[in-house]
Amino acid sequence: MLKRILQRIYPQNCVLCGASSASEAGLCVDCQADLLANPTACARCALPLAAASRHLLCGQCLQKGPVFDAAWSPFIYAQPLEWMIHQLKFNGRLLYAKWLAELACKQLPQLDEIPDCILPVPLHPSRLRARGFNQALELARPLARALSLPLDSRHCRRLIHTSPQTGMDAKQRRKNIRGAFSFENPAAYDYVVVFDDVITTGSTVSELARVIKREGVRRVDVWSLARADKSW
Ligand SMILES: [Zn+2]
Ligand SMILES: [Zn+2]
Repeated sequence: MLKRILQRIYPQNCVLCGASSASEAGLCVDCQADLLANPTACARCALPLAAASRHLLCGQCLQKGPVFDAAWSPFIYAQPLEWMIHQLKFNGRLLYAKWLAELACKQLPQLDEIPDCILPVPLHPSRLRARGFNQALELARPLARALSLPLDSRHCRRLIHTSPQTGMDAKQRRKNIRGAFSFENPAAYDYVVVFDDVITTGSTVSELARVIKREGVRRVDVWSLARADKSW
């Protein structure tokens, strides 16, 4: 019994392929190599760019930048990472947050300026009750610790329980999320990093950045574990 419990908490086997050599983050060396890193991303929105791209920015950001100032996503949203994030969010497997954060902490962002805090994208209270935890907060916590940055999960709220955005295009997503957040800035933050588990088209983090900047914050960056290969 104890062995079974320990095996569930600290699996020796790779959670993806079952190989008996899981080294870290629940994965064997081969499965870790299958994760798609995002080393040549757009500096502004983290959209994956072709390795040979001569530009630092994607086509969309070259024309007109997003409301946030910079973005960082160490991974591209694809399998097998997608499955691991799914285990965390929809199967309540909180241990995956620890593993996914471990993977992100292996390639921390270069900081050209020190943010005042990391602000995880909040869930609506009813979704938080249903899920039992906020995956963005669970993933951001180890990152904040590794970078010695404060974590702020108090001053931003989700006011509207928005419908899931899967299947919506970028324009529909922007409309769906408009007015969903409130933010107070009693600590007079100047530079805030917004953190989400996945950035798909960036509509959620853009809306949050807009609300945060309205409260006098000069710079808002967005970080996520993974970035979908979709323009914002
Ligand atoms: Zn494996
Ligand atoms: Zn871009």
